Amino acid sequence: MSKSEELADLKKECLSCLRCELGKTRNNIVFSDGNPDSAKYILIGEAPGENEDLTGTPFVGRAGKLLNEFLIQAGISRQEDLYIINTVKCRPPKNRVPSDFEKEQCRNFIERQIKIVNPKAIILCGATALKSFYTTKIPISKIRGEWLKINVNNIEYNAMAIFHPSFLLRNHSMEVGKPRWLMLEDLKRIKNM
Ligand code: SF4
Repeated sequence: MSKSEELADLKKECLSCLRCELGKTRNNIVFSDGNPDSAKYILIGEAPGENEDLTGTPFVGRAGKLLNEFLIQAGISRQEDLYIINTVKCRPPKNRVPSDFEKEQCRNFIERQIKIVNPKAIILCGATALKSFYTTKIPISKIRGEWLKINVNNIEYNAMAIFHPSFLLRNHSMEVGKPRWLMLEDLKRIKNM
């Protein structure tokens, strides 16, 4: 069975999930994007927003479009190199941060996706993803760009935290040392690992 076939089975299970309150208000489960058979990296974002909930695809709104631009500049193919997920599969009302309980309820799906895809590295996109997989009090602005080791399903993965593109929508400068410049540097490091 290919990775895509295994994930299609898992998605069927996920589609009927009502383990937490987010399942009651969703329009769509936002399961993943990208090609699991060719993906080198899993990128984990925070949670689906309005556009993601309406389309069932992660990172398709303004932040997603900005992420696409950075990926192109770094030479990473969104469709071939990445498998994209979030810490929860259903949109939190008013785009609030998902609660620890909601993330815990969804964790089993996330861990099984990681196990099936078995990536070369995991990209923790934004503070919510970082805190969900790495225990630290260091803010993302200080820890981003460093190679970390994280343990998922008793397997150790290389991981790197990067800024969430929604943060970059509020920070426009590409000057050396500014968040957008750092984002590109981080993605280039991931590409060259
Ligand atoms: S967020 Fe996850 S655990 Fe909660 S209902 Fe959706 S799929 Fe189920």
